[in-house]
Amino acid sequence: MDDRQPDGGYPRLRLVHSVPPEPVHLLDDFVVCGTCGTYLERQREMYVCDGCGAARAAAAPLEEKVAAQVLTLMSQAQGWTRLVTVGAAEGEQPPTELLAQWWNTVGVDGQRVLLDILVEYVQVKYIQAHPTCISGRGRFVWSTHPRTG
Ligand SMILES: [Zn+2]
Repeated sequence: MDDRQPDGGYPRLRLVHSVPPEPVHLLDDFVVCGTCGTYLERQREMYVCDGCGAARAAAAPLEEKVAAQVLTLMSQAQGWTRLVTVGAAEGEQPPTELLAQWWNTVGVDGQRVLLDILVEYVQVKYIQAHPTCISGRGRFVWSTHPRTG
């Protein structure tokens, strides 16, 4: 028996507590409160402003709207050119259906890369400011990247 092993021949088990990584959400650090300018924080199924507290948006519909907007930008010549220019894509611009498939296969990390290239930020504004209002009342103010116009 190998005498470097402790009693019983088993290696000693050391319990290592690792902190699980924070889940990354599509719109972390992208959604800005239209009232106070604070980045909205994802809390459960909502993106909320912890600055003024006025802006709240249900996560799933907001992410869907943003994804649709990113697809629109990618399917425009300007947006595609921008992706090629920064090295995120190459070749001729594919048809929109292929772009949608591409978006769906790159995962959240990849989607955040595309988002970062194409969109400066997403601003959530409320026409009727009410702290409890959620999806459906949000007006999404888009600011495309300055270099793509
Ligand atoms: Zn705010």
